[in-house]
Amino acid sequence: MARIEIRDLRKQFGDFTAVRESSFTIEDGEFLMLLGPSGCGKTTTLRMIAGLELPTSGTILIDGEDVSRRPASERDIAMVFQMFALYPHMNVRKNIQYPLVSQGWSRDRIKEKVAEVARILGIEDILDRPVGGLSGGDRQRVALGRAIVREPKAFMMDEPLGALDAEFRERMAEERRALHDRMGATTVYVTHDQLEAMQMGDKIVVMNNAVVEQFGTPRQIYDTPATMFVADFIGDPSMNFLPFEGSIAEGASSVRLGEADVAVPTAREGAQGKLALGVRPEHMDLSDDGPVRGRVVATEYLGNTQVVTLDTAWGEVKARVDARLNVRPGETAAAAIDSTRVTLFDDATGRALR
Ligand code: ATP
Repeated sequence: MARIEIRDLRKQFGDFTAVRESSFTIEDGEFLMLLGPSGCGKTTTLRMIAGLELPTSGTILIDGEDVSRRPASERDIAMVFQMFALYPHMNVRKNIQYPLVSQGWSRDRIKEKVAEVARILGIEDILDRPVGGLSGGDRQRVALGRAIVREPKAFMMDEPLGALDAEFRERMAEERRALHDRMGATTVYVTHDQLEAMQMGDKIVVMNNAVVEQFGTPRQIYDTPATMFVADFIGDPSMNFLPFEGSIAEGASSVRLGEADVAVPTAREGAQGKLALGVRPEHMDLSDDGPVRGRVVATEYLGNTQVVTLDTAWGEVKARVDARLNVRPGETAAAAIDSTRVTLFDDATGRALR
């Protein structure tokens, strides 16, 4: 197992910067999610950690040792690829033991090790079956088996569930997490699915346009987004931004929103110009004296809650409210804000003001 420290990592392909000065640390045994939209640099970051791509600058430390320039073979990191890279003509046992055979392990040790791995993955009964006829789930397990059998220091997983249908994906994600908890191996997992990242990660690195926007626990990232990008990317429906022009003094504890003063957490930084109040839909409630008034343009019934969309002076605002409330499109409604849960942003830079 390993602690992996990434410091100011950068990757340039010619003139194009794929990863820009990124820093974060994966603690020993942690499950880290690299999350972001397509093309933001997740895979490139993963490949640099695994040693499949050399960084342009910056440092990768594994257990305190600088491995930035070392070849992949000397890093002892296993890549688990999206496609099940198995040998279809071999049976399950042969696929799993393959890395050990090439390392020259004895037959007895191999047998023992394969049995152990098969037990962990729950595939003892298919060891002699050819891989060709297996279900997608079993193939995943075999591919994982081949990765864990040589006990690498860490696992890199590049959207391994990407190609699967939603229900199966969820089941495999749970299995991955359970397996991780059983083995406690340091894992880096690439995904563009924010829900998957929230469910599975001990920590999340949110990337956008080659830049790390935020690094933290799922809770930190959801509750205290560092940027408007993160606030928007995480959560469904995503955070509302109520833009306003004004100034907020250092130490201020309310902002003027239309005709109302809305309490906000005390600002340690002052700011002026284009600002925005960020409010998650579930932190708004319909209330006749609420400051956010508008016409109801849509209601979406979700069983336990409903999402009401209001057309307001700040644009469309979504509130997630009690499903039993009787609201109809065309009516006028007002929403109150849970002022203990709002985030203030500088709309020009997109950064949260704390
Ligand atoms: P996806 O989710 O689509 O896989 P990603 O976040 O993993 O995206 P990367 O694969 O890291 O993104 O790619 C980041 C950017 O770097 C992309 O614009 C990609 O086209 C570019 N890129 C990646 N590898 C190379 C390369 N070998 N040469 C040139 N450009 C590259």
